[in-house]
Amino acid sequence: MNVLLLGSGGREHAIAAALVKSPLLDTLFAAPGNPGIARIGQCVGLDAADHASVAAYCKANRIGLVVVGAEAPLVAGIADDLALAGIKVFGPGKAAARLEGSKGFAKDFCARFRIPTAAYGRFSNAASALAYARGKGAPIVIKADGLASGKGVVVAASLAEAEEAIGMMFRGGFGAAGETIVVEDFLEGEEASFFALCDGARAVEFASAQDHKRVGEGETGPNTGGMGAYSPAPVMDAAMSRRVMTEIIEPTLKGMTELGAPFRGVLFAGLMIGREGPKLIEFNVRFGDPETQAILPRLEDDLLALMLACANATLPDRPIRLSACTALSVVLAARGYPEAPLKGAEIVHLERAEAKPFVTITHAGTRLEGTRLLADGGRVLNVTAVGANVAEAGARAYAAIDAIDWPEGFCRRDIGWRALQRP
Ligand code: AMP
Repeated sequence: MNVLLLGSGGREHAIAAALVKSPLLDTLFAAPGNPGIARIGQCVGLDAADHASVAAYCKANRIGLVVVGAEAPLVAGIADDLALAGIKVFGPGKAAARLEGSKGFAKDFCARFRIPTAAYGRFSNAASALAYARGKGAPIVIKADGLASGKGVVVAASLAEAEEAIGMMFRGGFGAAGETIVVEDFLEGEEASFFALCDGARAVEFASAQDHKRVGEGETGPNTGGMGAYSPAPVMDAAMSRRVMTEIIEPTLKGMTELGAPFRGVLFAGLMIGREGPKLIEFNVRFGDPETQAILPRLEDDLLALMLACANATLPDRPIRLSACTALSVVLAARGYPEAPLKGAEIVHLERAEAKPFVTITHAGTRLEGTRLLADGGRVLNVTAVGANVAEAGARAYAAIDAIDWPEGFCRRDIGWRALQRP
């Protein structure tokens, strides 16, 4: 079978690396892909926003499955448009993608189907949002309703900060995504990411992970897309995972079916694990980046077969096979990230890092100029290693990083600290 993968980041490279292990795969195509994916698949210049062109390409190249990496094409309805053309997709249709595309929809959905989450209000003007925030007090969380590239959430430590965030969103700080907002209680606890594969009728636990969002060591500095991750998350033991399945994932699958929007694909629950148990922070309707880079090296099942089963409503009624080891992934970013990453510097000796045992490297923002590999984005490379535990995986990942010659890059040296500090 031929597969078309949509996306260009480290997540997509990790997915590509898992897909090419499948005996079901003939050719992997990626649009637009990246120089790392180009080593294992065929990169093509297709615009994922142009659904008709993607459909035509799929027909011409006998694509058996389209795998959508990021949320924007799913929220825009690419899965519905391709399905109408008779093409199978891993990822939900537009109606089900609202779980990520509209935070207000997700919160109302949780309220209706009794899924544990923070108390909230939905607002379409600043005065009523502010009155609600004042009634609740700080800390309080302000969220733009729509997609805002992961930047639409402000955790306000004071009412003054909340007022500023509300004003900024209603002045168009996030464009149409901030026309309505959610104001919700601040949740205390430990954050974790939980992934379940869904085929519309059935959900199967996939894996857990934890990531590091702040750019600086010790969780300092501005938020980023993620500076590193590890899997599994120690806080997600078997009992907690079971609770997440029965209290959050399964009611969501049932609720979406009841709304006539059955969920197919990967359901990614961002969780706060507090004293009362797991609460949902947010849903995502695709794999996480960089969590995927830390999850897929542990997968002992055939990813392509699982993705096809999601699309065909034939998920197996058995646990997914994952190795018991830990994988830890460190993001190498260009100096200046996230505000103003320095592009164009050459990265040398990547092959020395790639030659290390237990290590995989995925490209997130690189470009080839002849044979020279150049940094071409904020997050540029992910160095992932597996080990018996976080300490071993981390030591292997950092040893590989030290073999790379790229003075204009940097990484956090403390990925995994939370897991290392656990008693
Ligand atoms: P994201 O929506 O993934 O960009 O993440 C926003 C981040 O804000 C989350 O990872 C949490 O750290 C934080 N956050 C969002 N909602 C809450 C909440 N209700 N309580 C505490 N922290 C939150």
